[in-house]
Parts: sequence; structure tokens; C-alpha cells
Amino acid sequence: MLRVEEALERLLALSPPLPSVTTLLEDAVGCYLANEVAARRTQPAADLSAMDGYALAVADLPGPSHIVGESAAGRPFDGRLRAGEAIRIFTGAYVPDGADCVLIQEDAQQRREYLHLVGDGINRQGQHIRRAGGDFHIGDPVLRAGTLLGAGQIALAAMAGYGVLGVGQRPKVHLLATGDELVAPGEVCSQATIPSSNNVMLRALLRGLPCDVTDNGIVGDDLAALEARLKGMAQSADIIVTTGGVSVGDHDLVQAALKNCGAKIDFWKVAMRPGKPIMAGNIGNALVLGLPGNPASAFVTASLFLCPLVRHLAGSPTPFAEPCAAETTTDLPSGGIRTEFLRAYVRDGKITADDRQDSGMVSPLADCNALLIQDVDVPARARGSVVRYLPVA
Ligand code: AMP
Ligand code: MG
Repeated sequence: MLRVEEALERLLALSPPLPSVTTLLEDAVGCYLANEVAARRTQPAADLSAMDGYALAVADLPGPSHIVGESAAGRPFDGRLRAGEAIRIFTGAYVPDGADCVLIQEDAQQRREYLHLVGDGINRQGQHIRRAGGDFHIGDPVLRAGTLLGAGQIALAAMAGYGVLGVGQRPKVHLLATGDELVAPGEVCSQATIPSSNNVMLRALLRGLPCDVTDNGIVGDDLAALEARLKGMAQSADIIVTTGGVSVGDHDLVQAALKNCGAKIDFWKVAMRPGKPIMAGNIGNALVLGLPGNPASAFVTASLFLCPLVRHLAGSPTPFAEPCAAETTTDLPSGGIRTEFLRAYVRDGKITADDRQDSGMVSPLADCNALLIQDVDVPARARGSVVRYLPVA
């Protein structure tokens, strides 16, 4: 059986990141930057006032100084100041030649066209002036390739002179639940049927990642129907995600259906718990992830495999979540032959593994915010030991 780390490596090796696309800044949020961004302009482009007040030369203080004009943001004073002169100035306005400081209006009094110092005033050159290039200079590399674009990075790109950016393409993810027992959430169930919780769970997990999700609902345990749905999805999907039917029971048809579709299967068993039967491969250009049907198994395998795969295809250079560390509040047994991901919750730097680890149970998922990692063969650990975990949504 494949170890988790090896399976993750092989999964990402199935496909390089998708080609990049050019997108409007307003649509770039949550995407990964394709190339380094170099500033197309200097910011500020000239010395600008940081306050409302008066621009003048420090050497002329305490004045009085002759007020010879005004400079407002976007409407600069046209000229240079001579000795003994000042201008009215506002935040963001161009500071003219001859001025080397801004006296804030609280420290100034204007009487007719003369400016008088009141209060403490200025004691250094450059006071309340935003220097040209203080933020960045033209040509400066301001954002690295692979940066995840949030509000701050988008603001910077706009100020650096960009209206569009090259970003990694958002993979198209198609979801399909399999099982004769499944009905859509909210529908009435008999004793033999259950709500399909996996697709809505997967959608929730993928929300916030750079991908476009299509929910293809449920298909029964019927080889021909499953095959037809897989072929249909492979036309447009970058990633096909099935849940259920991936094991070796009589009604587990995902593998057979994939083979009939001409899929190449890279692996279908990983040494982990929950989630041993997990399958990865491709039908043509579409990658396929066959996740187990049990809700906790689907949740854990999607967190571990699907989310990094989406980030990888979308252009992230660091698609894996970094494990965190916390003190366990309970004793933990030694590890076995599979890596275990215990549903757990972290509070105040301490982690508690839930005592309900049955992969069919959904209630622990609602309480957990972490997966406590029990490595293969790890020795037993006493409460108070520091353990590793992955935060989960
Ligand atoms: P399977 O992998 O098809 O053998 O399914 C394993 C368990 O997961 C069974 O108890 C299924 O009823 C359950 N299951 C399968 N698909 C879903 C789903 N979409 N939502 C919730 N439970 C599911
Ligand atoms: Mg099934």
C-alpha cells in the first residue's frame, strides 16, 4: 500500500498546473499569480503631502510666510516657492519645489494672505511629506509569481499600474455521488435511503479555493449509468471527484466504470485511516479522484488530496497545508501500519481527539477543527506531548 506522502506526490505528478489566463483585477481574488509583477510606475510618483496644512521651507519658520497659492490632490500648484512663501496644501497633493515640509493646519493660523506659526510647528525637513518612491519604484518586483491574491495584493497590483493580471486558471471540478441508497439533501428518506451529504460537504470544502465546482448529483450503482456520467464529465472537467463505490464490494463499480472509459488508474489504495480506498487517475485530460463514500472518509481524503490538487492545478507553488503543533489532552496509542487522521478539536493551543472515530459518523465532523496526525509506527504518547495536526475547515 502506498504511503500518504508518496500518494500525494504521485497525485500532483499526474498533471502540471493549468496554463495561466489573463484576468481583470476584480476577478483575480483567490487566484495564484502566474508571473512576477514589476511596478510600472513609482509610488508616490512625486513628493506628496501626508496632511492638510501648508507647504513651505523649514528655513522660513517661524514666518510669517506669504501664501501664494494652493495645491490639492490631482490639482498641483503650478510653480516653485521662493524664500518667505508658502501654499495651502491638502492630503495627497503635490509638494512644489522650494517646499520641504508641511505645517499641519492645527499648528498654523492664516491671517489674510499670511501664514503664522502657532503650536509646536515643524522641526525637521520632510515632515508630513510622503517621499517620491517611498512605497515602491518603477521596475521594483512587488509581487512574486505564485502569490495568492487577496485584497492587499490586488490593491498593490492596481497601484503598480495593472488593470489585468496573469493568474493560474481555476480548475473545473465536477462532483458525482454514487450509491443506490442516496437521495438529495432535504428529500424524505425511507429506512433504506440516506441523504447524500458528500457533495454539499465537498462544495463547502472547496469554497474559497480557486476552482469552479459543478455538482452532478447522484448516480445509482449501475455500471452503464456510471460510465455514461464519467464520460460526460470528462468532456469538460479538469478534476472529476466521485464518492462511494470505490472499494471492492459487489456494488463498488467506480473502478470498473473508469476502466471501461479508458481511464488510467495511478493508485487506488493508500495506507491511511480513514480512507484506505482512494483512487487517483485520469480519463484523457481530466484527473479523477475516487473518494470513499463514508462521510468522515470523504471529508479527510478531500482535505488531504483534493484541496492540494486544486491549489496545484491553479498554480500554487505550496499546495499543501503546513501541519501545526499542539499539546494532546489525552494519551495516544502507538501508530500502526497506516497514517491516521483523527478527528479532533484544538482550543487554546491544546488538541483533543474525538472519541468517536467511526468513519461513518457525521456528528464528530461538526465538532472538529483539526485532524490529529498519528504517523505510521509512532510510539505511544502521553497527554501533554506535542503532536502535529492539520487545521480543517
Ligand atoms: P461505499 O464506499 O459506496 O461502500 O459507501 C460507504 C458508506 O458511505 C456507505 O454507508 C454509504 O451509504 C455511505 N455514502 C456513500 N456515498 C455517500 C454520500 N454521498 N453521502 C453520505 N454517505 C454516503
Ligand atoms: Mg456505495
